[in-house]
Amino acid sequence: MRYIISLALASLASPLWAEVPKVMTDIPPVHALVSQVMGDLGAPDLLLERGASEHDFQLRPSQAAAVADAGLVVWIGPELTPWLDRALDGVGDGAQLPLLAVPGTLTRAYAEEGAHMAEDGHDDHAHEHDDHGHEEEGHDHSGLDPHAWLDPANAKVWLGAIAAELGRIDPDNAATYAANATAAVAGIDQLDADLTQRFAALKDRPVVVFHDAYGYLADHYGLAIFGSIALGDATAPGAARLTELRDATAGGAVLCVFPEAQHDPKLAEQLAEGSGARLGPALDPNGSTLEPGPGLYAALLTGLADAMISCAAP
Ligand SMILES: [Zn+2]
Repeated sequence: MRYIISLALASLASPLWAEVPKVMTDIPPVHALVSQVMGDLGAPDLLLERGASEHDFQLRPSQAAAVADAGLVVWIGPELTPWLDRALDGVGDGAQLPLLAVPGTLTRAYAEEGAHMAEDGHDDHAHEHDDHGHEEEGHDHSGLDPHAWLDPANAKVWLGAIAAELGRIDPDNAATYAANATAAVAGIDQLDADLTQRFAALKDRPVVVFHDAYGYLADHYGLAIFGSIALGDATAPGAARLTELRDATAGGAVLCVFPEAQHDPKLAEQLAEGSGARLGPALDPNGSTLEPGPGLYAALLTGLADAMISCAAP
């Protein structure tokens, strides 16, 4: 009898009998990469809801509780989602993996557009963004572009980092996480080769996108993004920016204008209307209109290629 009781107590309390950790993720592409690494061992949870923007999401109380309860939170970082940064206040460094901070991650600064932005001397303030960017109502548009998941080279680096972190927390399954990550990297290599070939059709075909989220995709595949309507954090553009885009679009410098699934298409429609540019299908840069799961990362990039090519290089 005594033996049975002590066994029962041990099973309740012992951290030695480790289980697969509860993993929380921020946005669908990160959820997809973690899903690939966990494989048959389990599935991570996802915070961003269907159709939501990564920039103005608000956690429900139950979601904030789930963040606090997670064994590991894998997320892009505070540069993308201040709403999650606040929920992580009490969570220790060992329980979170901000992917932008993973060594080997390629990062880029937002491109400057227009002479007025070049003159204000804020081009090298990337590191100040963390210190005060979150609290300013006016937002800091200089600095690090956090949409780094749109470079598949980063996805490959992150798969390794996710496997290493899960293996540290759950050493019993470390070999499985590592093998799953290796297989996922091979899958991304194949996807990347295919997309490199397809995106070549967009070379020298300038397009306008809704928000400044595609710099990584453009850098990796050599795309000509003429400009974006909204800024990198999806805040509304000023009149000068719209006028500049309207002049360029009317002048024939732009082939396609793409709205986004997470935002009102009106500004993109107005820009394309009566100009030489076509209105493209809505792009989905964060994958929140897609079915979450391990296949979402490939579906996200393939979907962007399909949509952009269908309009700009049909
Ligand atoms: Zn964005």
